[in-house]
Amino acid sequence: MSNFTQERVLSVHHWTDTLFSFTTTRDPTFRFRSGEFTMIGLPINERPLLRAYSVASASYEENLEFFSIKVPDGPLTSRLQHLKEGDSVIIGRKATVTLIIDNLKKGRRLYLIGTGTGLAPFLSLIKDLETYERFENVVLLHGCRRVAELAYGELITKRMQGNELIGNLVQEQLIYYPTVTRDPFRNRGRITDLITSRRLFEEIALPALRVEHDRVMICGSPALLVDTKELLTSRGYVEGNHGEPGDFVVEKAFAER
Ligand SMILES: Cc1cc2nc3c(=O)[nH]c(=O)nc-3n(C[C@H](O)[C@H](O)[C@H](O)COP(=O)(O)OP(=O)(O)OC[C@H]3O[C@@H](n4cnc5c(N)ncnc54)[C@H](O)[C@@H]3O)c2cc1C
Repeated sequence: MSNFTQERVLSVHHWTDTLFSFTTTRDPTFRFRSGEFTMIGLPINERPLLRAYSVASASYEENLEFFSIKVPDGPLTSRLQHLKEGDSVIIGRKATVTLIIDNLKKGRRLYLIGTGTGLAPFLSLIKDLETYERFENVVLLHGCRRVAELAYGELITKRMQGNELIGNLVQEQLIYYPTVTRDPFRNRGRITDLITSRRLFEEIALPALRVEHDRVMICGSPALLVDTKELLTSRGYVEGNHGEPGDFVVEKAFAER
């Protein structure tokens, strides 16, 4: 059996000139846990050009969803951004884990810290029943430069609250905190600054981050990963990984080339 399947694009949504999302069919044998990533791509000169992508849909959903950057001269996304309904995409059968709840120790609250397309794995996790069973509160922090880049805000604040399966849990347990650095907006500033200054906790009415109770997942730029890791380790946090649950886990939203 090939390590890849060809899936059909079902819908495409352009958020801005640098961000878009698309959904595809899902091979019934493709299994993944919420928060995992796989390889996706297109055939270029008859060879597959593949890149790592977090699956933004929940593990129980019938179709797959991806949230993508458009890099103007990017080998894959300069082409991928022109996808249309009915086109084919190559999708890996194997999903890889880091940002999964099993890699975290027990805790009361779960902080999901994402910048840019680093929101993608958390879109999957906030639709998963288990996330709400394991934590009393789930705080989703999404940092971007511009307000227009705060994709999925309405899905998180409105549509998910009406979801038959998890709507009640979302209303009671999920706190969504979008923040931008370059536009006027109700929440402004870098996520690490909002944590250090404690402004975040005043606004969401929760106690400041403590290793005894709070678990953290991070997905963003290499710079965000470095800053947030430093902030957490200085508070006694220990990084978890597969087989060794910790107080926080990290995943790159992209690699610098
Ligand atoms: C574990 C993992 C999960 C990933 N999940 C996603 C995802 O869900 N959505 C997604 O769009 N990308 C994701 N990426 C990045 C993705 O693999 C590709 O890098 C991206 O699709 C661009 O591909 P490209 O061939 O056009 O350009 P590349 O040659 O891959 O990248 C060119 C440059 O563009 C910048 N860049 C690449 N991706 C991003 C990004 N997402 N945000 C900001 N700048 C970027 C970097 O500076 C990079 O050096 C992930 C990467 C990793 C390692």
